Amino acid sequence: MNINIGDALDFFITPEGLMIRKYTGVSCYFCSAVDNLSYFRDHLICHNCIEALKSGNPSSHSNEAHPAPPKKRRNYRNQNELLNKLKQLMLEHPNVSQKELAEMLELSQGRVSQLKKLLP
Ligand SMILES: [Zn+2]
Repeated sequence: MNINIGDALDFFITPEGLMIRKYTGVSCYFCSAVDNLSYFRDHLICHNCIEALKSGNPSSHSNEAHPAPPKKRRNYRNQNELLNKLKQLMLEHPNVSQKELAEMLELSQGRVSQLKKLLP
């Protein structure tokens, strides 16, 4: 960072922590870049972010903390995820039947029985 005594500084909080840099007056609305800026809907935005916006994914550049995961339905990503979910349900509802577990997980009862055998 090239900062000299007397320079105006900018402070801002990012997901990575406090950032300090030389005050430049203008910077990208999303990522605070100072190069290749253009106006876009009343904000100064850098070329990278404009490209990202065009592709419909501005957060890939601005590094937003945790976008809400899409609501999960029948298709769980993998068996581990199912096992965790099953374990959690069994903790929350210790007296629940296998059939009810199957309904909660949107699985067949046979699949739940299989999964239960995999639990420690
Ligand atoms: Zn940017």
